[in-house]
Amino acid sequence: MLGSYRSRLVALLTAITGLMVVLLVVSYMSARWVIWEDSSLHLQQTVQLYERNLASQRIELARYAAMIRNDSRIQDYTFAAVRIGVDDAPLRGLIQQHIGRMPVDAVFIYWEDGVTAVGSDAPLLVDDIRRQPAGLDNRTLYIENESGIYLAAILSLSYQGEVLARVAVAQDMGKSWITGQARDHQTQLFIERDGEIIASTMPEIESILFDPDQQMLVNSTDTYRVERVKLPAAGNTRTRFWLAGTTTAQVETLSRYNRVMVGVALATLALMLVTGLIAVNSFSRPIRRLITLTRDMANGQLPTIKRAKGGTEIDQLLNHFIDLIEALRTGQKEVDRAHEKLKLSAITDELTGLYNRRYLNETYPKVLAQADREGLFLSAILFDIDHFKHINDSCGHAAGDACLIEFSAILKRYSRASDYVFRMGGEEFLVLTVGRGGKNVSMLAEKILVATEATGFEYQDETIRLTVSCGISCIRQNQSYHPTVSHLVSLADHALYEAKRDGRNCIRLNAESCGRQKAASLSVAGRRGDFR
Ligand code: GH3
Ligand code: MG
Ligand code: MG
Repeated sequence: MLGSYRSRLVALLTAITGLMVVLLVVSYMSARWVIWEDSSLHLQQTVQLYERNLASQRIELARYAAMIRNDSRIQDYTFAAVRIGVDDAPLRGLIQQHIGRMPVDAVFIYWEDGVTAVGSDAPLLVDDIRRQPAGLDNRTLYIENESGIYLAAILSLSYQGEVLARVAVAQDMGKSWITGQARDHQTQLFIERDGEIIASTMPEIESILFDPDQQMLVNSTDTYRVERVKLPAAGNTRTRFWLAGTTTAQVETLSRYNRVMVGVALATLALMLVTGLIAVNSFSRPIRRLITLTRDMANGQLPTIKRAKGGTEIDQLLNHFIDLIEALRTGQKEVDRAHEKLKLSAITDELTGLYNRRYLNETYPKVLAQADREGLFLSAILFDIDHFKHINDSCGHAAGDACLIEFSAILKRYSRASDYVFRMGGEEFLVLTVGRGGKNVSMLAEKILVATEATGFEYQDETIRLTVSCGISCIRQNQSYHPTVSHLVSLADHALYEAKRDGRNCIRLNAESCGRQKAASLSVAGRRGDFR
């Protein structure tokens, strides 16, 4: 799978992306933890604030109780009521004056068999207050009853050195206390007794059940974390105070953080993917070109490829390969030229430049097929220079060569472009021509004979005169007759022999093969009248 660099790069990108995802998750978790811890701290600090408030409230309440107790008129009226038994209406009036100036809900002055109770909540508390054992005066305590929970401060009231009665000041610590507390928008207060919420800053949760072990509170809109607010010096009360901190803010902060993180991550990922793809492409394109190039080269081709414009190492490598191919191409051209030359030299005669005998064997089937296709004759015109040996002997071998070259030129000049001219060896030449046979061929041979005789072969201030003899054979292929080249040539050779025998410098047609054209041939302007 990781065979190509492309897939390796893709794998690397995937690994980096995976790492990024892990980093994101870790970052999200730690952000969550930090936000959570921060909110916990906030909640705990708020709890401590309430606990300090409650503690100072105790002191305040004791101070109010002391103010009432120390009022000398209250002491006098209490004495009158307790010892003399006068009506306590004036006493209540005095207490009422105090209540008007103090944030208290009930005030009691009570003794063994009497009580003066003032305040809206007084009837709800009077029995509980009176039940408080004597001897534990000068203290604050929480009183729980069916009506709720109250904070009470109890002091003993003395008159002229004698304890006459006790003064109790009480404050409602239920709903009225709760609603009077200043809160920030993230926190709520509630009071629970035996798992039931009896008062809350959130009216909708009042009287629902609450499980303190869960440490969470859910209402219709929000989820809250809860911390207990301990009542100072309260002992084990059934009623417990709780502070609830909303998690909405944290969740919002977290989701805001999350959105930013995901946005940044997506942007980074997109950027990485784009740059990765560009890198992969710019890397793999020249590699693919290189692979194609080397594969084509292995298949024996020398492909033409545009040079790479970039300056990377791979581009350089590719360009070096292209240079290599160019060099190979140039070399190949030279090899091809040499090969062509070699091929040509293999089929041509070195001295005259005409085709050699070997090429005759190669050419023959093609020319025969052509004649067959066109329904024409294939004629062989065989020339042999007369008394050539004598020329060699008298003028020298080089002069003989010059004559051979000059005669070849005559042959080329008079034969058609479609004819094939061969040097068969020594001073013997053959023209293969496709045409109507005897008459036309004889005319061609005649022209050559006339031209040869008329030509003065110049060699080193000497003019050499030549004549040639000519034998012609013609063949036409049919279904039952497939003449070979040697047969055709031997027929021409026979005719040539006749020409020699008949005195040279004349043309003879093979009577058998060119028989039907004989008459026509004879009508050619007779040289020595000896076409036969
Ligand atoms: P005939 O008229 O009967 O053909 O007589 P001839 O002398 O032409 O024939 P012969 O076969 O007796 O002699 C051919 C000569 O051609 C013999 C040989 O030395 C010469 N010869 C063959 N090849 C070459 C060559 O390449 N160059 C030269 N200068 N002479 C050649
Ligand atoms: Mg000869
Ligand atoms: Mg000869």
